[in-house]
Amino acid sequence: MAVYDIIIVGAGPGGIAAAVKAKEAGLNCLIIEKGEDILSGILSSYPTGKKVYPTIPKGISEDYSVSLLKPPEKKVTIEEFYRSVKEALKNLGGLNIITGEEFKSFHKEGEILVVQTNKAESRCRNLILAIGSNIPRKLKIYGDARPIARTLHDPNKYLNHNVLVIGGGNTGADVVITLSKLKREKEDQTKVYWANRGEKFKIVREVARDLGEEILLGGDIEILKDAKPVIGEVDESGIRRLTIRTEEYSLDDEIKRYRSMSFPMKNVIACIGFVGPAQIFEQLGMELMTHETGMKSELIILDENLQTSIKGVYAIGGAISPSYIKRSTDGKSNEVHHLNLIYTAVNDGARVVDHIASKLKGSITPS
Ligand SMILES: Cc1cc2nc3c(=O)[nH]c(=O)nc-3n(C[C@H](O)[C@H](O)[C@H](O)COP(=O)(O)OP(=O)(O)OC[C@H]3O[C@@H](n4cnc5c(N)ncnc54)[C@H](O)[C@@H]3O)c2cc1C
Repeated sequence: MAVYDIIIVGAGPGGIAAAVKAKEAGLNCLIIEKGEDILSGILSSYPTGKKVYPTIPKGISEDYSVSLLKPPEKKVTIEEFYRSVKEALKNLGGLNIITGEEFKSFHKEGEILVVQTNKAESRCRNLILAIGSNIPRKLKIYGDARPIARTLHDPNKYLNHNVLVIGGGNTGADVVITLSKLKREKEDQTKVYWANRGEKFKIVREVARDLGEEILLGGDIEILKDAKPVIGEVDESGIRRLTIRTEEYSLDDEIKRYRSMSFPMKNVIACIGFVGPAQIFEQLGMELMTHETGMKSELIILDENLQTSIKGVYAIGGAISPSYIKRSTDGKSNEVHHLNLIYTAVNDGARVVDHIASKLKGSITPS
């Protein structure tokens, strides 16, 4: 049975970048992707028609290490980005990729890693986990929140309905912009309500610009600050509704009163983010550390080459965002903030493959 130099799990931006670099370095590489095509993670979590931003974290001057994965400055939709990446990979002669197969586990036989999927077993010297972070964060309410959509796939479905978008980040803003634009163009009189738990909305400059433009063009968007989803219940007509608390005011020192709004769950989209795969890493036997900055969370421990505590196994991209613990050779551990961006995933993939290529050529000693 062939022993690959590298097996990459996940054909998102990180996994593809790693595979392109491995091809350039003449390494024998296989990608395993559970979706039906490349970029499945992105295609299933982005709202349809979402513009893709080529954001590079502040203070970094290095460009994308794999240019075919850099979204153009003139923004394109996610569907156009997917097609351009597909075309560029075809021009490169394609990648060695198996789709529709899910990575489950691995074990070691000496220095060789035996990788198990739901269908087969493969062997490699190095394994890169580029599995993203697409486990939707739970909406903590009293009652059942399951019918609530987690992204926007068919904007037309929300025409002629007041819609509630929950989540004050970039994804929420993108959904608000897309819906508002459609309603405005179709002369639909219903509104888009945009709710955030806190006072401040956290969006990048490019998204803020698009939102401002949409409001100036007449988009009917009502912003609800400090709005908390509280209850999911079925009303007397059998409609599943979500109640959000929008304002608190006191009658006197003891009694609190709240204003609230209630929306049919079918008209609610909760863009409240995704959680990292800490549990998956733990099950695979990797070392994690409990960290308590802001929210208590389990973070994966990596060395300076993004190698996990298991030699030859690396983790990159969305899977190690928004932060991981870097353990230096002197044993010191520091939390590293790692933005969940296409840029970071791509540059992680390239960086890890450069390291593996040097290791395999014998120019560095495996750590
Ligand atoms: C709604 C939304 C909008 C965003 N907009 C932007 C933007 O405009 N610009 C930007 O820079 N970033 C944006 N991001 C972030 C960006 O998409 C991520 O940083 C990037 O996709 C991370 O790449 P990745 O390769 O690490 O993971 P992913 O893109 O998540 O890819 C992981 C892949 O691994 C596969 N996989 C997972 N588990 C397994 C398994 N067990 N076996 C096999 N395959 C598996 C998945 O199917 C998936 O294809 C956005 C994110 C979201 C959610």
